[in-house]
Amino acid sequence: MGQPIVLESSQHVYAFAPEMTPAGFADSGAIVLFKTADAFNGQITSPDDTLAELNFDAVNPATGPLHVKNAQPGDILAVDILHMSTGTTGIILTVPGSGVLRAMTDAVTRIVKIGAHWIQFSDQVRIAKQPMMGVIGVATKEQRIPTGTPGRHGGNMDTRDIAAGATLYLPVFQEGGLLAMGDAHAAMGDGEVSGTGVECTSETLVRVRVLKNQSLDWPWLDNQKERMVIVSAESLDDATGEATEQMVRHLAQALDKGLDEAYMLMSSAGSLRISQVVDPLVTVRATIPRLYLD
Ligand code: CA
Repeated sequence: MGQPIVLESSQHVYAFAPEMTPAGFADSGAIVLFKTADAFNGQITSPDDTLAELNFDAVNPATGPLHVKNAQPGDILAVDILHMSTGTTGIILTVPGSGVLRAMTDAVTRIVKIGAHWIQFSDQVRIAKQPMMGVIGVATKEQRIPTGTPGRHGGNMDTRDIAAGATLYLPVFQEGGLLAMGDAHAAMGDGEVSGTGVECTSETLVRVRVLKNQSLDWPWLDNQKERMVIVSAESLDDATGEATEQMVRHLAQALDKGLDEAYMLMSSAGSLRISQVVDPLVTVRATIPRLYLD
């Protein structure tokens, strides 16, 4: 194995769009190191720095995009997340008018130390470190979508399972796929209710693979235990409905069973989980243990 291709955090975008200028090129099967800035691009370094107004066009720098050779519209780009290391400083924020508790008026910034296995949340409380990538996606079909917004192209899905050991499958809409990622979190709870996880820089090693002629409606993810579809929509009702339908149709096809059978299996063994409810669209994942697919 040769040296990985390296994309520096200075090579970043603030939107996914149909036309994007590649920051690098790779063959299918290549290993690539993405160095990512934190979601605020280094602007917040002390508790005195707050974001009174969060402009979703000017945060969430995503390193890339990477052009993967031979990725064509209608293919899948598989991203094997091999390893994630984080910076040693984390940022946690509350933002007035943002998050689930929108009436909470204080803008509070906490800077925390990220160790090898733990985040020192307070003098008394440590949180287990579970690095994940908040923003990861590809060039869009038609729209210019800020990196703060999730969608069919991926983007700001803020899904805890997008972590080392997982494979994320993204639909390819443009030649080369044009993969970019950023907004790493050293840890994040489902929902991301205040609007941030433990925001940090990262060095994330991935393998990119092109799967020819296999289209997807939404991003899918496999980890050791589960398969899931990650759906973003205006409302939780819309997102749960679409995620459930996607998974039920997938189960019916994969198991060669009727929709009723697949629906009952999803209802008995699958789960719906909230990824985040604080971005311009909300994100829900429908999951099924992989043992039912074997
Ligand atoms: Ca995010």
